[in-house]
Amino acid sequence: SSTSARTTEPGEPALRDVVSQLPGYVAGRRSSSDLTAALASNESHEGPLPSVLETVLQGAGRINRYPDMAATELRERIAAFVEADADEVAVGPGSVGVLQQILAATCGPGDEVVFAWRSFEAYPILVSLTGAAPVPVPLGADEGHDLEAMLDAVTERTRVVVVCSPNNPTGVAVDHDALARFVAAVPPHVLVLIDEAYVEFVDEADRLDALGLFRAHRNVCVLRTFSKAYGLAGLRVGYAVAHRGLAEGLRRVALPFGVNSLAQRAAIASLDAAEEVRERAAAVARERRRVTDALRQAGWDVPQSQANFVWLRAGDGLRSALNDAFDRADVLVRAYAGDGVRITLADPETNDRVLAVLRDRSAFPS
Ligand code: PMP
Repeated sequence: SSTSARTTEPGEPALRDVVSQLPGYVAGRRSSSDLTAALASNESHEGPLPSVLETVLQGAGRINRYPDMAATELRERIAAFVEADADEVAVGPGSVGVLQQILAATCGPGDEVVFAWRSFEAYPILVSLTGAAPVPVPLGADEGHDLEAMLDAVTERTRVVVVCSPNNPTGVAVDHDALARFVAAVPPHVLVLIDEAYVEFVDEADRLDALGLFRAHRNVCVLRTFSKAYGLAGLRVGYAVAHRGLAEGLRRVALPFGVNSLAQRAAIASLDAAEEVRERAAAVARERRRVTDALRQAGWDVPQSQANFVWLRAGDGLRSALNDAFDRADVLVRAYAGDGVRITLADPETNDRVLAVLRDRSAFPS
């Protein structure tokens, strides 16, 4: 299959061992028709905001020019939004691009990076590429981060601890006080990277104050994206809020012009439309509550998601039965071997198609 490791033939330029051994990032499948519900990639189901589309179309006439390499206006606008300084903001092609910058700037052979597992699958891949060792720490019984076990996994060689809240793919958010205690206990040479790709969907009362932790600790950095709630997945733009030294390092390792001119314009216009973005995210959160309640009533054991998706833990028998049922219903979801199935939330009608597939827990293997 396209995901299996492939090495070059003798006599061809060789791949580094670490690259031949990488599993390869598997993206969610694409929808094959308008009838398919594409719920495999945690994208926004809504089209771009009209004001954002308009500014992208306006910018299209200037794509013969390079973008602003320093993304000055965008970084200033993000800085105002997160109440930081523009020198404390770094941007990249998606937050995965910024994550690669962070790891490239901080890690190398002999180093270790601690993260929860299962979590975002780019973590072990990007860590391995730096030559550092990935140190996955199993999620707790509630499908959330086990911060005590993660603290125990920190050694002298640890350079970065990644905390993903809400966690992809389980949706469970980290508790603020628990994370504050964790940050206080981690040695100051360890960077605590808080990946908040789904922060906009978290209920206000449960939101952790990652930016507050950033302000209080030199070793905390926050990663965010325009791909999810802002609906710009196709344009690729994400950012980190990091202390000056690290932010400067990220700009040094970044691919020049990595955030294209249309992405820069669209992200700025999206910040102008913050209220619309907030309303869209709130609608997804309402659907999350409705879907979670309905699934629990149907007999499913659903963790408390704070993101724009829900998670069904499933061993391989149940997982393949679920996969078949969703295939028959023309609904694309994301199945993880051995672990479970992640379903992105969309509009009420599409979510009802999901609920129809899952209406009866007892129809599936245990
Ligand atoms: N972090 C998490 C937790 C994610 O789930 C994703 C996307 N699946 C990303 C980062 C990267 O998203 P992007 O590169 O589109 O910003």
